[in-house]
Amino acid sequence: MQVVHTVSDVRAFLENRKNIGLVPTMGALHIGHETLIRTALAESDVLAISIFVNPLQFGPNEDYSRYPRPLPQDLEVCERNAVDLVFAPTVEEMYPLPQLTNVEVGRVSEHLCGKFRPGHFRGVATVVLKLLNIVRPQRAYFGEKDLQQLMVIRRMVMDLNVPVTIVGVPTVREPDGLALSSRNKYLNATERNAAPALHRALQEAANRIRAGEREPSKVRDAAMQTLNASPLIRVEYFEIVDPEELQPVSVINGPVRIAAAIWIGKTRLIDNERVE
Ligand code: AMP
Repeated sequence: MQVVHTVSDVRAFLENRKNIGLVPTMGALHIGHETLIRTALAESDVLAISIFVNPLQFGPNEDYSRYPRPLPQDLEVCERNAVDLVFAPTVEEMYPLPQLTNVEVGRVSEHLCGKFRPGHFRGVATVVLKLLNIVRPQRAYFGEKDLQQLMVIRRMVMDLNVPVTIVGVPTVREPDGLALSSRNKYLNATERNAAPALHRALQEAANRIRAGEREPSKVRDAAMQTLNASPLIRVEYFEIVDPEELQPVSVINGPVRIAAAIWIGKTRLIDNERVE
């Protein structure tokens, strides 16, 4: 395994290599990331993973400075999973000049997290396009846990004819349903006990739709009751949206995605459920 920190070292390592898979991450790797890595490994001759906490995608009052950065442990995870190349750049390497060019994916970025994290998806799309241009992989892997991120990237790649296939990987969960996330580390024991209510509420909502409910407000109200039953939980949004552009639907008459964000103490958690 090669660990590099500069764009020129990535290019040198990957020169003349074909069938490259890329897994972009912010590190603090867990089984969710490992699942992306294993999926990518099975389909790629060379597997590259990037570890970069991207300042562009954090708002001024968000957790950029306290975001976990356990690089030595992350490298062990990569080594154990037979990763070929780890690209762990500094902020200066990624942004040697002020970033004047940014990727704005309209509409798909508008609702859900986009509404509460202004500029977040611009930061995500911009750094992902940079990583795709640096590594030039045939395929890049993203988790369905971050549904809006996955759809923003898919749309960017289509709109801009970026020569890469985007692969979505199903969400990996704890036995009690909580989606794995680097931010779960922030939860104390009581908060951790309250957290599975998010997945439970999403599943209840999905089941209500599968049972025939067509009115988003009714589905939402029932789910809000489940979430509001816990005094530790504050709901940021709970929306039923179309699967492509993630626009809220007024009637449920086809496949939808149910997506939610909650706060537990100082920790923000997101999750989603698909209904086909
Ligand atoms: P992050 O390091 O949080 O930016 O995540 C890097 C990639 O791993 C993103 O594509 C995430 O969607 C994906 N990911 C994070 N958590 C999970 C999970 N529990 N299951 C599947 N993929 C995940």
